[in-house]
Amino acid sequence: MPEGPEIYRAAREVHAAVAGQAIELNLLHPALAPRGKSLKRAIITRVYARSKAMLTEFSNGDVLYSHNQLYGEWRVHPLGQSLLGRQKRLVVTTPQHRVVLYSATDFAWLRAGQELAHPYIAKLGPEVLADGTTPALLAKRLASFPRRNLATALMDQSVLAGLGNYLRADVLFVAQLSPRLQVGDLTSAQLKALAKVIHQLTWRSVHHDGVLLPQPDYKKLRAQGNDYEAARFYVFDREGLPCRACSTPISRLDLGGRSIFFCPECQK
Ligand SMILES: [Zn+2]
Repeated sequence: MPEGPEIYRAAREVHAAVAGQAIELNLLHPALAPRGKSLKRAIITRVYARSKAMLTEFSNGDVLYSHNQLYGEWRVHPLGQSLLGRQKRLVVTTPQHRVVLYSATDFAWLRAGQELAHPYIAKLGPEVLADGTTPALLAKRLASFPRRNLATALMDQSVLAGLGNYLRADVLFVAQLSPRLQVGDLTSAQLKALAKVIHQLTWRSVHHDGVLLPQPDYKKLRAQGNDYEAARFYVFDREGLPCRACSTPISRLDLGGRSIFFCPECQK
């Protein structure tokens, strides 16, 4: 399941391909098609992500909300490239690209300025990847949930929007915090340090294609013959493999129906 950084990158790529361009819009899903007429002369002004949803703003004030859930995917195809043999929900054709939303089933039409009226967006916490989001803001937000388990709070989009399973595991490892702690167990220095790690690793994932290890470490591992998946994380999905810091085998714990990976030595 894609996390904040993957959706953020997809939104940025779609935005670069369509914003401000002359477009031909084909709305293929029955829930979308009735808007075709009113959007005939509209252009797309902005595409951006809110947690795992994408918002597409049109010049007439319409905003398309879409959530990929498990199978949905936005794809930017250079003109001339064949489209995938999957269900197409909409196709935006520009002079250079065809941008397709495949297989998604969750969408809604909103009006600009009223995005918060959508129930999914209304319940989201601050967006880690938003321009104005600082580590200080993240620390303050987390501090307002003292009784929550730390590991499940980090995954809860109503606490902070943007982290998923791989990010929370690696964030807690780098911050050297046990996934069994409650938010209120942290000192204010630990909370500040944690917020800094959240900010840093989430942006690192955006900038380095989902790689959370620092680039020199990642490159070294790749040069030693590890593939992308084996070299990108500190602890995520590495149960039984040696901790990158202390060589203790990485453990896995089931918390709220999802696995969290951690080093029992570094994260006591
Ligand atoms: Zn360790």
